[in-house]
Amino acid sequence: MPKVSIIAIDGPAASGKTVVGRLLSSQLGFQFLDTGLMYRAVTLVAIQQSTPLSNDAALTTLAAKTQIAITDTPDGARVLVNNHDVTGSLRDPEVEAAVSRTSAVAGVRAVLVAKQREMAAAGSIVMAGRDIGTVVLADADIKVYLEASAEERAKRRGLEKSGTDDKESVGAVQKDLEARDKQDSQRASSPLRPADDAHIIQTDGLSIEQVVAKIAQLVAARS
Ligand code: C5P
Repeated sequence: MPKVSIIAIDGPAASGKTVVGRLLSSQLGFQFLDTGLMYRAVTLVAIQQSTPLSNDAALTTLAAKTQIAITDTPDGARVLVNNHDVTGSLRDPEVEAAVSRTSAVAGVRAVLVAKQREMAAAGSIVMAGRDIGTVVLADADIKVYLEASAEERAKRRGLEKSGTDDKESVGAVQKDLEARDKQDSQRASSPLRPADDAHIIQTDGLSIEQVVAKIAQLVAARS
């Protein structure tokens, strides 16, 4: 049995946290949680219910009232919100544009962080996000911060979204990613940053399997 049971993976948008975390968790037999889905779910409900994104108290109440159930499989996550499957809507452009605003609200974060910690208490887990190593699971056995250039991240996300890496669509994706990273890094509440004790992995030019192998080495070294 590995001595490691909690692994935190943080990094900017499209740095590979989810694919890497999912593959790593299946190799280790751990659960996997992509916390970005929770912020996206709350944002989607806020849009659907016309909750003003400027109203922190209303967003916090909404986060507390919203039931989020995430089932992760090697093929991807399925997300139920208040018992409705919303998986297909969480990457809509409206959600993409608003999620950094919702996630900057301290009350929303407090609600979701409590749920994330509950899930981690249930057993061995790989958890991916922005503040996992710094806040949510500050005692994680292993903390990893994935870095990649904005160009590489935009290329990966463009290919994933539309199957193309032509210059124009990659340029548009890169603009969106950079805007979100800026908001996520500059917010007052749990900004995106590596934990002091995080292992920083620069992933440009590395395959998913190579990144997973690097983290698996860290796990083996601790076990
Ligand atoms: O990881 P993903 O890109 O799906 O996350 C969407 C957004 O959710 C991020 O841009 C960020 O604003 C927010 N987020 C966060 N803290 C996390 C995970 C995601 O603030 N732990």
